[in-house]
Amino acid sequence: MIFETHAHYEDEQFNEDREALLESLPKKGIDYVVNVSTSLETAKQCIAFAEKYDYIYASVGNHPEYASEIDENAIAKIREWCKLPKVVAIGEIGLDYYWEPYDEAEQKNAFKMQMELAAEIDMPVIIHSRDAAKDTFDIIKEYSAKGVKGIVHCYGYSLEYAKEFIKMGYKIGIGGVLTFKNARRLVETCHGISLDDIVLETDSPYMAPTPNRGKRNSSLNIPYIAEKLAEIKGVSVEEVYERTMKNAKEIYRIS
Ligand SMILES: [Zn+2]
Repeated sequence: MIFETHAHYEDEQFNEDREALLESLPKKGIDYVVNVSTSLETAKQCIAFAEKYDYIYASVGNHPEYASEIDENAIAKIREWCKLPKVVAIGEIGLDYYWEPYDEAEQKNAFKMQMELAAEIDMPVIIHSRDAAKDTFDIIKEYSAKGVKGIVHCYGYSLEYAKEFIKMGYKIGIGGVLTFKNARRLVETCHGISLDDIVLETDSPYMAPTPNRGKRNSSLNIPYIAEKLAEIKGVSVEEVYERTMKNAKEIYRIS
């Protein structure tokens, strides 16, 4: 009954026990996982997981950290991969002005080229954005006019921005941060938006929720996030699972 919309099981932190962990997920209530790529290399691993496990789906695309890889050849590769039946999104793509030094022009170019592809072939996108709210908003808006929708993952901006993204057809990705003591702004955002606009995610192996903060994360920690969200929205955890499942299937177009 749980849809995990964002994980990175190709990460080397899973080298020791990847297979056992992935095989255990459906038995523990994780019905769907989207394994999200960050580079051309990880895209191949995401696709391999999707081919091996029927409950795993893949996204393909380059995180801003790997923006320099994006050129016409890379776009041609991503375009081909998007034709595979279990590739459900282009991502994670976006802007990250947190880690210095960064090349703003290069990041914007890679982001826009991948958004352009999403518009052209009608694929949803997974957006990564850190310390770049305005620039991300402007680009999302530009491509919203061309029909591009998706998920703003690991959401960390204001309630006002969340409402704007939702208006443009985006879902808000909520993960472990919601359980942190200093999550006041994110709690406020969850209060102010509908459960129909939220999807659950972990960003594993990163961002483990309390009480496992700082440890390696996995989709098995989603209940901690869902419980917190249920408390904020005043609904049962089952309702959180049901409605976020519906949202995730809708945005990734899984029937
Ligand atoms: Zn991620």
